[in-house]
Amino acid sequence: MKKLIYLLIILFLFSACTEKEKTKESKPKNIILMIGDGMGLSQMYAVYTIKKDNTNMARCKHIGLVNTSSIDDLITDSAASGTAIATGNKTKNGHICVDKDGNKYTTILEIAEEHGKATGLVATSTITHATPAAFIAHNISRGDYEGIAKDFLVTDIDVFFGGGKNHFAKRKDSLNLIDSLKARDYNIVFDVDKISSIKNGKTAGLFYDEHPPKRSEGRNDFLEKASLKAIEILDQDEDGFFIMIEGSQIDWAGHANNQEFLLDETLEFDDVVGKILDFAEKDGETLVIITADHECGGFTVVDGDLEKGTIKGHFSSGNHTPVMVPLYAYGPGSEDFCGVYENTEIFEKMIVAFGFEGK
Ligand code: MG
Ligand code: ZN
Repeated sequence: MKKLIYLLIILFLFSACTEKEKTKESKPKNIILMIGDGMGLSQMYAVYTIKKDNTNMARCKHIGLVNTSSIDDLITDSAASGTAIATGNKTKNGHICVDKDGNKYTTILEIAEEHGKATGLVATSTITHATPAAFIAHNISRGDYEGIAKDFLVTDIDVFFGGGKNHFAKRKDSLNLIDSLKARDYNIVFDVDKISSIKNGKTAGLFYDEHPPKRSEGRNDFLEKASLKAIEILDQDEDGFFIMIEGSQIDWAGHANNQEFLLDETLEFDDVVGKILDFAEKDGETLVIITADHECGGFTVVDGDLEKGTIKGHFSSGNHTPVMVPLYAYGPGSEDFCGVYENTEIFEKMIVAFGFEGK
């Protein structure tokens, strides 16, 4: 009987201990936000079919549906939806983290920085394009790429990888922002194959004068290489990190009604999701959020074969559509992302996950 009591006490202590660990683990140290621009449910389902029910996104157990409309339009653009996700505020299409009068909204990246976390951005567009811009810049016009580039120097961002070198180096105002970045101790890289030599420190990688090409036309494994290198650098900060990684061109394929382009870019995105989830699985302290800013192309799957891994798609629009987009979450804090909610709540949920409320 005594033995049994001891055993029960041990069991109780053990379960209390694991319970404690669970609470500790429910707050992530790091957040990796992955945005497939224009990646609606049909785009995801097409990849699900092509990969024969073997997508990486489906490794996430906590799933939500997100409303994407902007403040005055059922159909959002990437600037307004990026602003909603990054700051928790709906704004007008075209605005980057400002209200209609130009008043600034603070972004999750800026807040993470204030709390001592390392921060990063990776995109397969220019790094000044609407989606990455919405995490770092404040501008009434998404098209003011040179103004947006200047905002990279207002923050203390640790790593950014993308295209758009010209917006830093060949500017109408003749400023050379590359020199300004160098003066602030950034490693500067113009060749994606050179990033393997960088081991630490603030790093700016501007690999293309303007937008990177399609993956199938020379971008190759840029997204994977850049994302993993960024995380390797950011993970050295003991306070943790925040990064946004964007598959930018899924959206452009939707606008172009180009199925081959669409599937290739979405497949790549899901492959990179796999690498990121592998990191998070090993790390145990990283929340991964995978979503879209809106659907694009009114894409539907009208036929296909799960065994052969083929689909027949159909586009019903050359623009964005207002249909809800799925959100997949993985890791500590991921359970809070279940449900149906507005894109602004992604920001609020990230703030709660990081434990930044009321601070
Ligand atoms: Mg974008
Ligand atoms: Zn678009």
